[in-house]
Amino acid sequence: MELVLVSACLIGEAVRYDGGDKLCQHNVLKKWIKQKRVVTVCPEVAGGLSVPRLASEIVNGAGGLKVLAGLSRVIDSSAKDVTQEFIDGAKIALDLAKSKNIRVAVLKENSPSCGTNFIYDGTFTAIKVENSGVTSALLQQSGIHVFNENQLDEADSLLKQFEKLYK
Ligand code: SF4
Repeated sequence: MELVLVSACLIGEAVRYDGGDKLCQHNVLKKWIKQKRVVTVCPEVAGGLSVPRLASEIVNGAGGLKVLAGLSRVIDSSAKDVTQEFIDGAKIALDLAKSKNIRVAVLKENSPSCGTNFIYDGTFTAIKVENSGVTSALLQQSGIHVFNENQLDEADSLLKQFEKLYK
């Protein structure tokens, strides 16, 4: 069975910066949980950050690829540099995915770690830009197909295709 990597907050784990979750009630996710195919990770917690914690953003909304290349940083709302924690968490998520031959991930949109299509622009003013977070960028760079929580049907279709290909 193909497993799927999912942001821990989407399955109700209280790991967000504000101490809450972002429980997603989509039927596909419920089905995957029943099938025991969900592997969860919160990259920020895995990277050593606490719950709760200050919100973080990528400077200039430059995106995860630039952070991974050393061309941008992640800072929290007190301007403390948390780049290393974000990179460490992304690597832990990737190692976890690789250890379980995971080809598909569903990550929480808009997060500086998990965002896939959008993140915030680094000004802490709720402005979004098209870019991806650090973990999403690392997973995609490594060939993993990353979707957000609004693309669960697409992710499910791809999983089914992989199950036909690799059974
Ligand atoms: Fe959710 Fe990802 Fe943020 Fe953790 S890092 S709280 S899994 S969006």
